[in-house]
Amino acid sequence: MKTHPSHYVIIFGGACAGSEAAAQLAQRGIYAVVVDQKALPYGKIEDGLPKWHVKLRDKEERKIDEKITHPNVQFVPKTRLGRDIDFNDVVNNWGFSAVFLAIGAWRDRPLPVEGINDFVGKGLYYQNPFVEWFNHKHEPDYQGPQLEIHDGAIVVGGGLASIDVMKILMLETTLDALTRMGYETDLLTLEKEGIPAVLKKFNLKFEDLGLKGATLFYRRRSIDMPLAQMPPNATPEVVEKIQKTRQKILNLAMQKYLFKFQELSLPVDKIVEGDRLAGLVFRKTEVVDGKVRDLPGTEFEVRAPLIISSIGSIPEPIPGIPSAGELFRVEDPETGKVEGYRNVFAVGNAVTGKGNIRESELHARKVSRWVMDNFLQWTEEDYQRFKELGGESGETPGPELQQFIQEKGLLSVEQIEAINQKIKALQERAGYNGDYWQWREKHLPVRLEQLIAEGKARS
Ligand SMILES: Cc1cc2nc3c(=O)[nH]c(=O)nc-3n(C[C@H](O)[C@H](O)[C@H](O)COP(=O)(O)OP(=O)(O)OC[C@H]3O[C@@H](n4cnc5c(N)ncnc54)[C@H](O)[C@@H]3O)c2cc1C
Repeated sequence: MKTHPSHYVIIFGGACAGSEAAAQLAQRGIYAVVVDQKALPYGKIEDGLPKWHVKLRDKEERKIDEKITHPNVQFVPKTRLGRDIDFNDVVNNWGFSAVFLAIGAWRDRPLPVEGINDFVGKGLYYQNPFVEWFNHKHEPDYQGPQLEIHDGAIVVGGGLASIDVMKILMLETTLDALTRMGYETDLLTLEKEGIPAVLKKFNLKFEDLGLKGATLFYRRRSIDMPLAQMPPNATPEVVEKIQKTRQKILNLAMQKYLFKFQELSLPVDKIVEGDRLAGLVFRKTEVVDGKVRDLPGTEFEVRAPLIISSIGSIPEPIPGIPSAGELFRVEDPETGKVEGYRNVFAVGNAVTGKGNIRESELHARKVSRWVMDNFLQWTEEDYQRFKELGGESGETPGPELQQFIQEKGLLSVEQIEAINQKIKALQERAGYNGDYWQWREKHLPVRLEQLIAEGKARS
């Protein structure tokens, strides 16, 4: 297909949000290049969503593949904004019509206990690297950091991701105990059937495993956990219904995976032994008019061989990009327009602050359409007109088309080719020859379900 005048947009981050933005733009004849720091553009579908979600993962990755392989979309793997590409340079000098940030939320919100980050890897893990390790540790060529799991761990959290962390801890420690006792099962079976059901098959009780189990500590009440979303201005009846749903989700998870839960507990200090974190000091709290109040004098110590903090994820800061404390500073979440820049837009988790596939996708769709209609002023009708005038043929434009191209402020074929040269250089640097399917096959991780079926792994 010959290059034709159009707009050209660069998108950093290629997962649910980035690929959706690329597809929206591409469907309107706009060129897009998706740049991702990893080999594959799957983001938290690959590294966040726990690996037992086999069907959901495959479905979402297939959707991303389809969007990324649209003829108007190019892909650049293994290239990180802020390290390999300078943000202000790309915005000011590369000639793109717009820049999209779809880089998700990969930094754990710091646990607010003074000096605690000195103990990362020495009794403390944060959720994001912990889940990433869990998702990939079975791969024969895994080369990332090696983490450890201990029975009796405690987790500080309260959202859906913290429930997944509890599940990982309980599934791994139970599986390990069963294996040591000579019983054969695997992680996917344990997750699907639940720990009590599998133990029953072996005529065992949880006590027989000699495990203490893991405990989740939450600073509010179980009914406040964001496991089900509270709509704005909810009536008292709706509030009660959502609170019951939250309680039910927690109870079901506890029944199936046997972890413990302690509400109204806020970590305020650390317990250190030698060079390791050995526990946390909590203070009791109360919730009054929706606000958490801690109750001085109610401190209690909890010792644990491992502490995991799962209190939320925020975007990694990129030099030059303004942030509002945690999320990117945007003029309006509906448009994603990043403050201080004419043509930079943020989409997905980086702005929504919600760890949800659908929310990321919908946000990217909404922002892309807004950008095309209002910022680029390139509506669906304009695109149809462009095609009618033979704009996509790549032939030298006639006078009417030439005038339309000028009116619409499209980039010329020469400008687009100049950007393509830069993209090609980035792809070559990453060792990517432009054949997405071949690249995907080479880089797709070995799946746990495959290893289990071959009898080569259990978790
Ligand atoms: C434990 C856990 C369980 C979850 N379970 C569910 C669930 O059951 N259902 C659900 O709907 N959602 C779930 N989620 C949330 C869901 O996975 C995310 O909300 C969604 O994948 C976010 O999509 P995104 O495209 O906005 O961001 P991401 O998936 O984070 O994608 C961002 C992309 O940007 C790339 N990137 C980051 N920084 C840079 C940079 N500087 N330069 C270049 N590229 C960069 C990353 O490599 C990545 O590909 C879960 C998340 C976690 C952590």
